[in-house]
Amino acid sequence: MTVTEPARVRVAPDASDDEITTTVEGWLHEHLPADWRAAVARGDLAAVEAIREDPERGPAWFDLLGDAGLATPTWPVEHGGLGLPADRGAVVTETLARFRAERHGRDFVGLVLAGHTILEWGTDEQKAERLPALRRGREFWCQLFSEPGAGSDLAGLSTRAVRQDDGTWLVNGQKVWNSYAHLADFGLLVARTDPAAPKHRGITYFLLDMRTPGVEPRPLRQMTGDAEFNETFLTDVVVPDSARIGPVNQGWSVAISTLMQERNGLSGRPAVGPGATDELVAHAVANGSWSDPVLRERLLEAYVEEKVLQMTTVRSFVSSGAAAPTAEGSIRKLAHSVLAEKLGVLGTDLEPDGAVAWESESPAAQRFLAMKTYSIAGGTSEIQRNIIAERVLGLPKDPDPERHLPFTERGRS
Ligand SMILES: Cc1cc2nc3c(=O)[nH]c(=O)nc-3n(C[C@H](O)[C@H](O)[C@H](O)COP(=O)(O)OP(=O)(O)OC[C@H]3O[C@@H](n4cnc5c(N)ncnc54)[C@H](O)[C@@H]3O)c2cc1C
Repeated sequence: MTVTEPARVRVAPDASDDEITTTVEGWLHEHLPADWRAAVARGDLAAVEAIREDPERGPAWFDLLGDAGLATPTWPVEHGGLGLPADRGAVVTETLARFRAERHGRDFVGLVLAGHTILEWGTDEQKAERLPALRRGREFWCQLFSEPGAGSDLAGLSTRAVRQDDGTWLVNGQKVWNSYAHLADFGLLVARTDPAAPKHRGITYFLLDMRTPGVEPRPLRQMTGDAEFNETFLTDVVVPDSARIGPVNQGWSVAISTLMQERNGLSGRPAVGPGATDELVAHAVANGSWSDPVLRERLLEAYVEEKVLQMTTVRSFVSSGAAAPTAEGSIRKLAHSVLAEKLGVLGTDLEPDGAVAWESESPAAQRFLAMKTYSIAGGTSEIQRNIIAERVLGLPKDPDPERHLPFTERGRS
């Protein structure tokens, strides 16, 4: 890949949208390879994707982006970011996205969840070891939270980590629904370290090297036909104490930081612009279904809902500034989930033939089959409603008479 010397971009924290856009566009003009820019200009997304996925050109580009600070605009400058608040950082990412030059969506766990969790809770050594690779996309991460018996009730997890005489931890258990665990270099792992403590208080958080002997992800085929998920078996896995993040038995607080980032990040990018409904409208115009007044009405309703969600996300990022996300992110995640389901159904109504012809890989069929993703991943919609009720509206918590019992004594009475 022909690129000029990496250059760290500088943006003032109070720069206007236009100033940020101009700076990033200028940087892209200088660094983005000419054939990439040409493919974007003629709308040849397959050609862009081929460059992004090229084993040499892709990583070279993401190194450059990371070294410029553009992959992590909200990270502190001392850790290779641009030190921008969330809404300003979103302008950077949006500008990159217009040139299809932003990081892969599949890097979400690494870039957003691992990155922010390490920034908030990591030791200096962990930051120095992990953040540069995360910034450049050189390490791929997965999330090892859910278990067969602990999804919504994550704090009920049973994977055990036992401290050994030499200070290392011996981990045994099973995780499930771990997206891309079969490809991951590292995993965000929560495990029970004190079964005698109440369930939220005996959990510890680790940054697990997925190449450690005893870590075995097994892919699960999902109904879209893909196999992104895994069940991950952990058998006598020896984890050094240096991989622990946050204090022993206080991993629940660390996990909450990760989950808040997840919910906040699962309501779409904080930018007002073309979205899924624009694609559906273009499709409806192309296949003639736009002339059906009922479908048109439903499309317009969904269009307005998507724009309102985008604006609310921008407003929320502006008002939170540099602060960590709060339970309020659950409102947007819920709205996004409801909209995704609505669009899944609408897509099939616009293209009923394609929707039943699964073999054709029709976008309508794919959207329909994937429409439940957001209402389950990162905490189901029912759980988001509980969070909104309890932590946003201040309603009483669900009663849990066993809350203060040792984990091992729960369910016995
Ligand atoms: C696309 C996708 C990606 C995912 N990626 C990952 C990943 O990378 N890593 C990972 O660890 N996990 C991942 N998950 C798992 C996800 O976090 C869990 O599926 C989710 O938390 C729900 O847990 P569960 O499947 O065990 O369902 P359960 O917790 O068994 O829930 C079953 C049903 O009961 C309802 N329910 C449960 N408790 C309550 C309550 N208190 N009040 C009201 N209703 C309730 C739920 O809403 C749901 O409808 C992913 C899931 C999806 C769909």
